[in-house]
Amino acid sequence: MPIAKNVRKLTPYTPGEQPRSKRVVKLNTNENPYPPSPKCMKAMASVDPDRLRRYPDPECRELREALSAFSGASPDCIFVGNGSDEILTLAARAFVEDGASLASLDPSYSLYKTLAAIRGVEWRGYGDLPSARALRADGVQLFLLTNPNAPTGAMKPAGEVAAFARRFSGVVLVDEAYADFASSNCMPLATAGGNANLIVMRTFSKSFSLAGLRVGWCVGPRPLIEALYKVKDSYNVDFAAQRVATAAVKDAAWMRRNAAKVAATRAWFSEELRSLGWDVPPSEANFVFARPANAPAAEVFRRLRYRGIYVRHFPGPKTGDRLRITIGTDPQMRRFLAAAKKADGVASKEV
Ligand code: PMP
Repeated sequence: MPIAKNVRKLTPYTPGEQPRSKRVVKLNTNENPYPPSPKCMKAMASVDPDRLRRYPDPECRELREALSAFSGASPDCIFVGNGSDEILTLAARAFVEDGASLASLDPSYSLYKTLAAIRGVEWRGYGDLPSARALRADGVQLFLLTNPNAPTGAMKPAGEVAAFARRFSGVVLVDEAYADFASSNCMPLATAGGNANLIVMRTFSKSFSLAGLRVGWCVGPRPLIEALYKVKDSYNVDFAAQRVATAAVKDAAWMRRNAAKVAATRAWFSEELRSLGWDVPPSEANFVFARPANAPAAEVFRRLRYRGIYVRHFPGPKTGDRLRITIGTDPQMRRFLAAAKKADGVASKEV
């Protein structure tokens, strides 16, 4: 069969469902419940059709200038990708040699494991940040550190991340997809320089409400950023995406207001869910990873779905007893709580 062996054996990543019905309360893919800045729509509407005839800027210069003003990083130290998922693929291509491995915490974003399989290298998962000796013994060359972590919402302080990078000879990529919902972040480690092996990655998909646009970006030392440029497709970010993302980042106040609303909803919702007996660990992200009080998580997942409420269930020993619930609007979370009261009954005969 003319299909590469690692692809034949591959278990693909399963993205969360995108239901067609608008009636579904969609709390399954960590999207933002609020719209993007109105300036994004203006930027979209003002696109000159003739501009679409030509290829986009392969280096995203205007967007990188705007991201430089936003983050404090020099434009030379910024890379933009077709979603941060693309940057993860490129990092696996640029920083991991044949026969070496890439690693992450376990549990964490499950795409990492799939990326290793596509790249044809081993994936190693660790319960906590491993020692230098373990990393060496396992041949790890790239560590993908989701912070705050997914699906748990737990956060490592920047000091711990910096110490980890110092004891590691490979590249640490801090995946900060959810950092705008958190109380701190690692961006200063990347913008201040002095961390030759550390990259901090962000996305427009969550806090900026632009998951449909597909734009992610990262900041790191120039040699690492240049390596990503070497291995990317020529025109990896399309013209409309560059234009709209630039408008979004120039209106960062809009994003911050929405992120603050999500964090406020997360606080009251977590309390309410705890009062129903669920175990809800503190989360710094736009989701909580909660264990139902009575029925098995897989069962509650099905019963919620029947009631038109979609959340995420990751089967498996480390994650199967919980549900990952994206924080939506206040009315959506009230609907969730009402449905959860019914769905979490032990002896309920309802589906
Ligand atoms: N990293 C993490 C931890 C995520 O949860 C996601 C979203 N599934 C991504 C990266 C990818 O985000 P995007 O490609 O939309 O930028």
